[in-house]
Amino acid sequence: MFISLLPLKKYRFAGVLLGLFLASNVMAQNCQSYRAKYHCPVDKRFQLHLSFDDGVGSVTPQILDVLKRERIPATFFILGNKVDCQPYRNSCSQGNQQKCQSLKRCQQRRQTLKRIKREGHLIGSHSYQHHRHSQLSPAELHRTIKRSKQILQPFFTTTPAPFRLPYGDGWFNQKKAPQVIRALTQQGFTHIGWEMSGFDWNKKNQVGTKILDNVMKQMCSGRNGTVLLHDGVFENEHEGRVFTAKHLAEWIPVLRCVADFVPLQHFNKKLKPLR
Ligand SMILES: [Zn+2]
Repeated sequence: MFISLLPLKKYRFAGVLLGLFLASNVMAQNCQSYRAKYHCPVDKRFQLHLSFDDGVGSVTPQILDVLKRERIPATFFILGNKVDCQPYRNSCSQGNQQKCQSLKRCQQRRQTLKRIKREGHLIGSHSYQHHRHSQLSPAELHRTIKRSKQILQPFFTTTPAPFRLPYGDGWFNQKKAPQVIRALTQQGFTHIGWEMSGFDWNKKNQVGTKILDNVMKQMCSGRNGTVLLHDGVFENEHEGRVFTAKHLAEWIPVLRCVADFVPLQHFNKKLKPLR
């Protein structure tokens, strides 16, 4: 029995090898055409880190599924008010049924937040509310950063903890508004900007391959670093950036043609593991 099965096994193995060879050949040819399409240097490879803002959103689990399958480390910049369930708990206990539904959704978002950490991604703060921080009074600025820290502290895994300012406001214009970065530093954060953006927040880009095109064009023009995408919508407590979550899996093989996915620490050496 064993002897008669052996040749069959051999053929099957050869078949698998041939299949893998053909698949990698097709991918290599595709990669050549993508390099040509985006005017990428022929042999250059880039380093890329994916980051997602404005979550936790309803689509964050979908994004986590893709990252897990593809073994890609990412950073999620969380809005503190999306995972602060206490206000809903108070209203729910007073009998407000709508708030009870909101509480349930908030608790689900906290479960997702735990999953982000469990699956080895970095968690950073996107502040407590999506304000333009350079326009806040000193007291408000201090309060919103501190409140996000209180909520997210159990989920941080580095020191300093990463922080990304909403709209980049206080980072782009730090010469004009130095108080914002100063306040972050005082509270133990380091600001993480971005080198590339998918501009996926803009509805005009949520069609075809525009978001992928944006990232590929920026990268192939010679940039390494962190790319800004979104898994949440700051105006609404439970919506996600549906388009990005839906198409991320299609973009990854194209990005992989020219880039390796690296952890944030690859670019930010001062992020040390929290002990
Ligand atoms: Zn944002």
